[in-house]
Amino acid sequence: MVLRLEDETRQELWRQLIAAIESYATQVEGARVTPELDPAKLRSLLAPYDFTKPVDPLEALDFVARGLWQYQTHTPHPRYFGLFNPAPTTMGIAADALVAAFNPQLAAWSHSPLAVEIEQHVIGMLGARFGYDPAATDGAFTSGGAEANHTAVLTALADAFPGFASAGVRSLDGQPTLYVSTESHHSFLKAARFCGLGADAVVEIPVDARLAMDVEALAAHLRRDRNAGLKPFMVVATAGTTNAGVVEPLARIAEIAADEGLWLHVDAAWGGAAALVPEFRGLLLGIERADSITFDAHKWLSVPMGAGIYLTRHPDIMDRAFRVAAPYMPREGLTLEVIDPCLHSMQWSRRFIGLKVFMSLMVAGWEGYAGAIRHMVDMGEQLRRGLRSAGWQVVNETPLPLVCFVDATRQDGASAAYLDAVALAVVRSGRAWISTTRLGDSRPVLRACITNYRTGPGDLTALIEALESARRRLPQEASQD
Ligand SMILES: *Cc1c(COP(=O)(O)O)cnc(C)c1O
Repeated sequence: MVLRLEDETRQELWRQLIAAIESYATQVEGARVTPELDPAKLRSLLAPYDFTKPVDPLEALDFVARGLWQYQTHTPHPRYFGLFNPAPTTMGIAADALVAAFNPQLAAWSHSPLAVEIEQHVIGMLGARFGYDPAATDGAFTSGGAEANHTAVLTALADAFPGFASAGVRSLDGQPTLYVSTESHHSFLKAARFCGLGADAVVEIPVDARLAMDVEALAAHLRRDRNAGLKPFMVVATAGTTNAGVVEPLARIAEIAADEGLWLHVDAAWGGAAALVPEFRGLLLGIERADSITFDAHKWLSVPMGAGIYLTRHPDIMDRAFRVAAPYMPREGLTLEVIDPCLHSMQWSRRFIGLKVFMSLMVAGWEGYAGAIRHMVDMGEQLRRGLRSAGWQVVNETPLPLVCFVDATRQDGASAAYLDAVALAVVRSGRAWISTTRLGDSRPVLRACITNYRTGPGDLTALIEALESARRRLPQEASQD
């Protein structure tokens, strides 16, 4: 009974759990956005729990709920202007709770037929939003965008080099290379390592003034590398860069990929949500030509982490990349026309990731999501205006709600030391979370992204005030680069 708990205790635990979730969901905006960062304090808080004497279940729940309130950067807070981490949808929270309780195993279709079909259904519906034929759309839910990008590299390899799946990289008569821009996500470097290509196989193409891949440079690199005996196999275009929200020229990159016979992957981890809003769909023109797409539901679709999605318009490629024989797997589905996800993706035992997307979409509908995204885009526009009138200079160009800016009111206003100090002061104030980054790996900027459907005009004002008070407290001379 110690794992299941007595009936009464369990029922009380559920009540307290729901109360804890409800109070976090409704009261987080009253909290500081950022926690104290003191590793020694946290370790001494945990030291008493050495598992030699059992703790009451309600006490355990209380310890963790209180602890999370106090010690986390509250990404669901409307003044978290951060790294695409959303306030989770209510339906997504409910879905994840159901998944934990029912614990469906999605490795084999026959173990969780409804769950696997729900995931395939959602994948088909999302494929259609990107312009794929829903009947030919295939894919898999992943832990996140990084796993989806890794899947993309594996499928591109399987497609370009039929011997790769069995004989590996060493069987190839040249070094395979893939092409990304310098503003692409760094998960491609890890994917290249995991695939045995090595990070040097990732060729980073410079970006233009708009911070999008320089298409002429891509063509030139491809020519040069082919002449040098390398084996280009894949081009990645980013639709909504992590740094600056820039959508690279998908249609032109698609043309080059087609001319060169290369697998085109579009990393739309965050920006792909534009496909859900009719008037923004034009931004993604060309994405329908991608051989595969990464789209993260745990970013702009606001479901709890982790929920990435790999989509492809080649229904046979997952099979070619991932199928193996496993005699111990369930056999009762063998005569049906169904797919066992374990033979069709990177994971084996598989959590029901798609449910939180399905249930969120069921209740919000496309219209509900379009409304939420429009609101966030509008908040991004208001933030740009507010920053400009407070003397900040916006330096990135995107219709998406991600703003990179420097201080136009002082000489050191674009120096890394000053901007880092401003971000740190805002973070330490607890009033908001923002960060700095380096555009094109060199230009320091402050970065604020609207990631929360509840962020409103008052939150933007609070951020601009926090920035103003940081600016006033930083002496010019102490922050020279
Ligand atoms: C966030 C992001 C990723 C990585 O996704 P995770 O869900 O964090 O694994 C990949 N590509 C882009 C463009 C991203 O913004």
